[in-house]
Amino acid sequence: MKKIEELIKKLTYDRRNFWEKADSKEIKKSFEFAEDYKEFLSICKTERETIDYYENILGKKGFKDIDKQESSTKLYRTSHNKNAAIAYIGKKPVADGVNLIVAHVDTPRVDIKQNPLYEDGTTKLGILKTHYYGGVKKYQWMSTPLAIHGIFINEKGEVIKLTIGEDENDPVFIMPDLLPHLARKEQYTKKIGEAISAANMKVVFNCMPYIEEDEKIKEAVKLNALYFLNQKYGFIEEDFLSAELQLVPAGKARDAGLDRSMILGYGQDDRVCTYTAAEAIFDLIDNDFERTAIVYLADKEETGSDGNTGAKSIFIIDFIADLLKANGESNDSNTLRKTLMKSQILSADVNAAINPNYPTVHEKQNAVHLGYGVSVTKYTGAGGKGGTNDANAEFSAKIKTIFNDENVFWQTGALGKVDEGGGGTIAKFMAEHGAEVIDCGPGVLGMHSLYELTSKADVYSSYKAYKTFFLKG
Ligand code: MN
Ligand code: MN
Repeated sequence: MKKIEELIKKLTYDRRNFWEKADSKEIKKSFEFAEDYKEFLSICKTERETIDYYENILGKKGFKDIDKQESSTKLYRTSHNKNAAIAYIGKKPVADGVNLIVAHVDTPRVDIKQNPLYEDGTTKLGILKTHYYGGVKKYQWMSTPLAIHGIFINEKGEVIKLTIGEDENDPVFIMPDLLPHLARKEQYTKKIGEAISAANMKVVFNCMPYIEEDEKIKEAVKLNALYFLNQKYGFIEEDFLSAELQLVPAGKARDAGLDRSMILGYGQDDRVCTYTAAEAIFDLIDNDFERTAIVYLADKEETGSDGNTGAKSIFIIDFIADLLKANGESNDSNTLRKTLMKSQILSADVNAAINPNYPTVHEKQNAVHLGYGVSVTKYTGAGGKGGTNDANAEFSAKIKTIFNDENVFWQTGALGKVDEGGGGTIAKFMAEHGAEVIDCGPGVLGMHSLYELTSKADVYSSYKAYKTFFLKG
């Protein structure tokens, strides 16, 4: 190598492109990894379905329910069917601090209102009223096939799961958008964020009336909708009032791009981190790592991490207290506090990859690029770093070093240009307990849209990054 080339290599930094620099074995693995991930994405479209998925496989992976008093180094707990903690006790005492990865299992969506059903007097259609959840661009949800996922609790108190629209023989649902011919005043004169109001996001539920010969039935279309629900699920209208029914895009996750190097699917924010973090802890083996590894799957991130299933709740702290006890250690409040303060946390959440259609909102040198590996984001927030955890340089450097040593493809990430907008993750809530925290997850194109795009290189690199954190962090 020429002297000048050596000097440039030594002194300068360039993010590495996975497809250019990874060896063929790693590239093959990244494609294989994506196959199971796509299946997971297609099955798990709500927070409940995601927690159900893990409840079903944790036993098979050797994890024991911490509340069943079984002694094990592999323990878990779920709560309210909406969040979970999965732990693998390391060689060191838990009180020396844990390595925790937190990802969220909720996704922007459209919820069905508590009293949603009516028969529209003008159109004579059965309609469901909705209430969107999280940061959605409303126009994206119009005129696209939707499935209903959720649960209701019947008169007997039984929890009934319901999914309509995912099987190819199922019907799907739609919120019909306005035709362009008549949108001139109603939509085109308005700002994009105002052109569709929440009240426009109503779902056409059914069309045929209930027929009884020689009877004139009031709201026969609505009655027919209830009749169908009752026949199939034993459902009555009052069951809506306590139900949790969500509308999500119908259909499966799939490969994207001519070279199949990307994945298109709903809810990759943040199920890509959920999946890769869980795979990382599942792949650990006894005595291979020092500090106790924990994956925390939280709900409600998209609405601010509030509620008893959100990251601001006591759930994970309480779990760590019980983990200390399960490992035969003291779990008094002082020990618990110190454990948290000695802990290290990856806030595993996606970042916005630079978008070829809108490159100007990003600052190219600091933005995340698809295909260059997992992104490590020192801070999120808005404006002058408002509302963010800003990871300490020392912890940032530690993460950088272990990723480099293990040949993890990674890049730094900033969420858009300064003053362009902003956003946050769970990082700042976790940091309140005194642990070191940094954001770490893959870039996504079209984040919060119905179809988010990721690179197989970055999904695989996230898995490798999380496993490296558990092994070496
Ligand atoms: Mn997220
Ligand atoms: Mn989000």
